[in-house]
Amino acid sequence: MVKQNLQMKETEPEAESRGKWWKKIEEIPVEWLKNQAKGIILDVDNTLVNWGEDEVSADVQQWLNQVKSVGLQVCLLSNTRNSRLSRCLRFFHFPYVAPAWKPLPFGYWKALRLLNLEKEEVLVIGDQLLTDIFGARLVGFRALWLPPRSSREFILTRLISRKIEQWLSRILRPL
Ligand SMILES: [Mg+2]
Repeated sequence: MVKQNLQMKETEPEAESRGKWWKKIEEIPVEWLKNQAKGIILDVDNTLVNWGEDEVSADVQQWLNQVKSVGLQVCLLSNTRNSRLSRCLRFFHFPYVAPAWKPLPFGYWKALRLLNLEKEEVLVIGDQLLTDIFGARLVGFRALWLPPRSSREFILTRLISRKIEQWLSRILRPL
């Protein structure tokens, strides 16, 4: 519920979108996204693919193709290794920054340069509050927080980051 409220707070969806909240990236309507931004910066692990896996599901591939077809620009921003990222998204030829060292700002600035857009024209989407979303807000991007695609993740994420997220979720005031 709090994640839903954060999605609302960060992106101010149109009235007709309110109440329809997204658990996975491929559930985000591309037309809605197009009205929000000219470009999107996407996290990879547990946002586009299950953590540590190389395969992009058919649903996500279809969604990414839709995103491309409406002219939205995409840049991938991941803390994973460069080689793994180019392997799992090789068919899409998106520009990428990896490793990005989120939440530090350098990767976000580089992604913005690669997109050749203004900060206000970009939306960041990711599954981790303390890296993806915090980093995005730190440099002034709008951001959309999604739940992780799978329960499997880096052990420190599970043991530390998710606990802090749970704690923050309790103290964040719903809109
Ligand atoms: Mg992630």
